[in-house]
Amino acid sequence: MLKLTLAPNAVTGQHWVNLLSIAGIPCELHNRYLNGALGEIPADQCAPELWLVDERDEALARKIIEAAISGPPAGSLPWRCAKCGETLEAQFTQCWQCGASRSLDEQ
Ligand SMILES: [Zn+2]
Repeated sequence: MLKLTLAPNAVTGQHWVNLLSIAGIPCELHNRYLNGALGEIPADQCAPELWLVDERDEALARKIIEAAISGPPAGSLPWRCAKCGETLEAQFTQCWQCGASRSLDEQ
């Protein structure tokens, strides 16, 4: 087991677990306060820890998490080029067919 990173909150942590699972990387979400006395700590301050079952997956797992943090939000919709009408995936900022930049109006 290898502790990969801390998630900012449980929802994000669960999202990362889902992404890694899709990539075939076994992982678990641990709460660092779960094993101790929970006491007066509010639930939203218990940052979940993302653990890899197999530490050999670390490099790939870090790439996936980085992409999840810096990439477009999950569920981004494809967009249509205003100039030529080509449909493009959300991660592209420019039309591959005519070179037009993605207009903010099209988002
Ligand atoms: Zn175009």
